[in-house]
Parts: sequence; C-alpha cells; structure tokens
Amino acid sequence: MDQPAPPAVAPRPRTFRPREYQGRVAAKTWHAPDLLEISLAVEGEAMFEHHPGQYVSVVLEGEPRRELRPYSLWSHPADGTGVATTVVRVVPGGRASTYLSRIEVGAPIRFVAPLGAFFLRDPLPGHLLLVGTGTGVVPLRAMLRELQVRGGAGRAVHLYFGARREADLFHLEEFRSLAGQVPGTRFVPTLTRPEAGWTGARGRVTEHLASLPFPATDVQAYLCGNGSMIDDATELLLARGVDRRAIVREKYFD
Ligand SMILES: Cc1cc2nc3c(=O)[nH]c(=O)nc-3n(C[C@H](O)[C@H](O)[C@H](O)COP(=O)(O)OP(=O)(O)OC[C@H]3O[C@@H](n4cnc5c(N)ncnc54)[C@H](O)[C@@H]3O)c2cc1C
Repeated sequence: MDQPAPPAVAPRPRTFRPREYQGRVAAKTWHAPDLLEISLAVEGEAMFEHHPGQYVSVVLEGEPRRELRPYSLWSHPADGTGVATTVVRVVPGGRASTYLSRIEVGAPIRFVAPLGAFFLRDPLPGHLLLVGTGTGVVPLRAMLRELQVRGGAGRAVHLYFGARREADLFHLEEFRSLAGQVPGTRFVPTLTRPEAGWTGARGRVTEHLASLPFPATDVQAYLCGNGSMIDDATELLLARGVDRRAIVREKYFD
C-alpha cells in the first residue's frame, strides 16, 4: 500500500489557552545579589500545560495600577517539580522585580499563563542556534531540556550564554550537564567584562555568531534577552542568508 506523503508544512503547534491563576510562591533561591530564582505553584488545581520556552505574566495589583510583567519559564514539565520556575534579574527601582525579591515563600501570587510564541518550531533543522544574554538564557534552558527529552542525534546545537561578568553566569553546571545529554551540543558561556583568571570565551555573543560555520538553510535561531543583541544578531543572520522565519526572537527590553 502507498504511504501517505509527508505534510509539506509542519502542523500548527497545539495552543494552550492562557488564563489567570491564583498561585503561591513555592521557593526562592538567590544565585547572586541581583539574580533570583523563584518557583510558583498553582493553588488547588493542576499545573498549566505549556510549550518549553513560553512565559508567565506576574500580576502586580494596586498602585499606581494593575500591571502584568512577563517572566520566561526555566522549568520543563519533565523536571517533575510541579512548579513553574523562572530566574529574575532584580533591577534597581523596578516594580516587578523588587516585588518578587521581597515576596515571601508561601505568599499568594497571581499570574497569567502560558503565554508567548518563543518555543521550538517543528520540524527541527540540522543546526540550532540558541542565543541568550543575561536572564535571556532562561527559556533556552527549557528548550534544551525539551531536546534532551525528545532524544535523538544528528543535529548541531550551539548554545551561547552572554553576560558581563562571571557572577552573572547562573546554573552553569545545569547547562553543562544538559548540554552533555543532548548529542551535538556545544555550550559557550562568554563574558564581555571578564575578571582576571577567566579562561573561558570572551566577547559578545554576536562576535561568536559571526565566525560560526552553519548553513544558511537547515538552521533555526532562537534569540532572547536584551534588544540590541537581538537586533544585531538578527541583522547578522539575515546577512548570512538565513530566512527571517527561521529567526525566533524574545526581546526582554530595548
Ligand atoms: C517575554 C518576556 C519574558 C521575560 N522574561 C524574563 C525573565 O525570565 N527574567 C527576567 O529577569 N526578566 C524577564 N523579562 C523582563 C521582565 O518582564 C521585566 O521587564 C523586568 O523584570 C523589569 O521589570 P521591573 O518592573 O522590575 O522594572 P521596570 O520598572 O519595568 O524596568 C526598569 C528597567 O529595567 C530594564 N530591564 C528590564 N529587564 C531587564 C533585565 N532582565 N536585565 C537588565 N535590565 C532589565 C529595562 O530597560 C527598564 O528600563 C521578560 C520580558 C519579556 C518581554
């Protein structure tokens, strides 16, 4: 019997309808004085489903007005923790990050989830560029975990973690360990202002991308973090012939 032809276009990914949840703060861990990992539990019902790479929006009630602030999910359902975890850079004077830095474990918190279109696009190509600056690596960890869960080999995955100083590099061991479990993965933390003694990579992630060999087709790039990095990296990738639709972006701020 004839086999049905494979679909020419990948099926649309399943959509998970976002809604507002009543939750509570399940755990907090400080990685540095301005880097907070925070886990949220849902009260009285099952944890929401989501695509690895999506985000939750934390609800800020009260003065001067009710606001929402997005935070990418570090956690993956396969972690089995039953909580939604993110890592927050605490910005001096920032309304949401200050609120999250002060809220106590066990306290109630509201959030909307799941949100966003920053997740892996099937069918995956032979080359994946996962590029994050600062806390922009948060959703990339969820994506790398997804690649690990899916298994398989024969794909080159380049994961760049750009930061200023060594103290800004959080969860290095987790990234190294996961990278080691996804065949073909190269993990490169790179610093723009390394202290003496740093023996790892130096320079902006875009400098590394510029010299990285990859084909213009059969590649997807996932860029997350500060706006200037995302704009520069996009320009660079387009100049190298990468299709705009193969560049997936999540800008945290301009
Ligand atoms: C889709 C999406 C996902 C996001 N996920 C995360 C995440 O996982 N972790 C995270 O730390 N942030 C994340 N952000 C940024 C986050 O939503 C807030 O903007 C940030 O926490 C600052 O909010 P605030 O209310 O504390 O400060 P605000 O008063 O709103 O902003 C203060 C200033 O901080 C700057 N700023 C914002 N974010 C950062 C940052 N990460 N590092 C340095 N400076 C910053 C802005 O330029 C702004 O001028 C995400 C943003 C988007 C759009």
